[in-house]
Amino acid sequence: LKSKAKQAAKDGKPTQRAAVLGAGIMGGGIAYQSASRGVPAMMKDISQDSLETGMQEAAKLLNKQLERGRMNGMKMAQVLSSITPTLNYAGIETADVIVEAVVENPKVKAAVLSEVEQLIGDNAILASNTSTIPIDVLAESLSRPENFCGMHFFNPVHRMPLVEVIRGKKTSEETVSRVVAYAAAMGKSPVVVNDCPGFFVNRVLFPYFGGFSQLLKDGGDFRKIDKVMEKEFGWPMGPAYLLDVVGLDTAHHAQAVMAEGFPERMAKDYRDAIDVMFETERFGQKNGKGFYLYT
Ligand code: NAD
Repeated sequence: LKSKAKQAAKDGKPTQRAAVLGAGIMGGGIAYQSASRGVPAMMKDISQDSLETGMQEAAKLLNKQLERGRMNGMKMAQVLSSITPTLNYAGIETADVIVEAVVENPKVKAAVLSEVEQLIGDNAILASNTSTIPIDVLAESLSRPENFCGMHFFNPVHRMPLVEVIRGKKTSEETVSRVVAYAAAMGKSPVVVNDCPGFFVNRVLFPYFGGFSQLLKDGGDFRKIDKVMEKEFGWPMGPAYLLDVVGLDTAHHAQAVMAEGFPERMAKDYRDAIDVMFETERFGQKNGKGFYLYT
C-alpha cells in the first residue's frame, strides 16, 4: 500500500486551493494543516460558533509554534489569513479539492456533498473525512462519483501522520493520485485502502471499544483500564480518554454504521458504553463532560 501511495503522490497534480466543509474538531484541524503547509483553505460551517472555535484552535497551534521559535509572527499571520471561515459557499468554485467533515450522518453528508458538487468545477475533487460510512454509499448522491473518494484524517489532525485514502468502486485513479498527493503535501502518510464500513483503522478500533464496553459491564473501572493501557501497556492513551477526545456523539454515530455493516461482530453488549454516554449527553472534551470532567 505504501509504495503505491508513494507513486500516486508523485503522479498526482498538486492542490492549489482547498475547501473544508465543517469546522469542528476535524474540519478545523484539516483547514489548519492545509494552510500551514501552504495550501489555502476555505472553511465552511453552518454555525458561527464552530467557525470561531476553529479559528481560535488554529491560532493556539500557531502560537505554540511561535513560542517554540519554529515560526515568526509574519508567517503566523500569513497562515491564519489563508484560512477563510465562512457561512456560505462563495468562492468554493476556485477550490480543486473539497474535504467534507460534517457530522457522521449519511443523510446529512449526502445532502451536503450533492449540494456542493453542483457548485464546483467539473475537475474538482470531493473527498469525505467520514470515519465509517462506505464511500460507495455516499457516492450514490453524486453525479461525478469518479471524482469522489474518502480522505480520512485522525485526531488531532496536526499530530497524527496517517490518512486513509479510500477508493470507492467508481473512484478514478486520478482522483486517488491527487488526494494522495494532497495528503503528502500536508505532511501526512497516506495509505490507499478499499471501501467497507470503517475502512481499515475503525475496523480495528471499534471492536477494541467493544471489548472496553464489556469490561465495564463486568465491573471494570474505566480509570484503571485507562491507566493500565497507558502506563503499563504503553499506548498513548486508554479507551475512555480516547473516546472523550474523539467525541462520544461522533463515536455513537460511527458505531451505528459499524453495527449495521458487521452485526455479527458488534453485538449489543459491545455497544453499550458508547450508547449510554451519548444518551446522557456526555460527549467528551467538546462539551466538558465525558468519562472525565473537563473544566
Ligand atoms: P464535530 O461535531 O466536532 O464537527 C462537525 C461540524 O459540522 C460542526 O461544526 C457542525 O456545525 C458542522 N456541520 C453540521 N452540518 C453541516 C452542514 N450541513 N454544513 C457545514 N457544516 C455542518 O465533528 P468532528 O469530530 O469534526 O467529525 C466530523 C467528521 O469527521 C465526521 O464524519 C467524523 O466521523 C469524522 N472523524 C472524526 C474524528 C474524531 O476523532 N472526532 C476522527 C476522524 C474522522
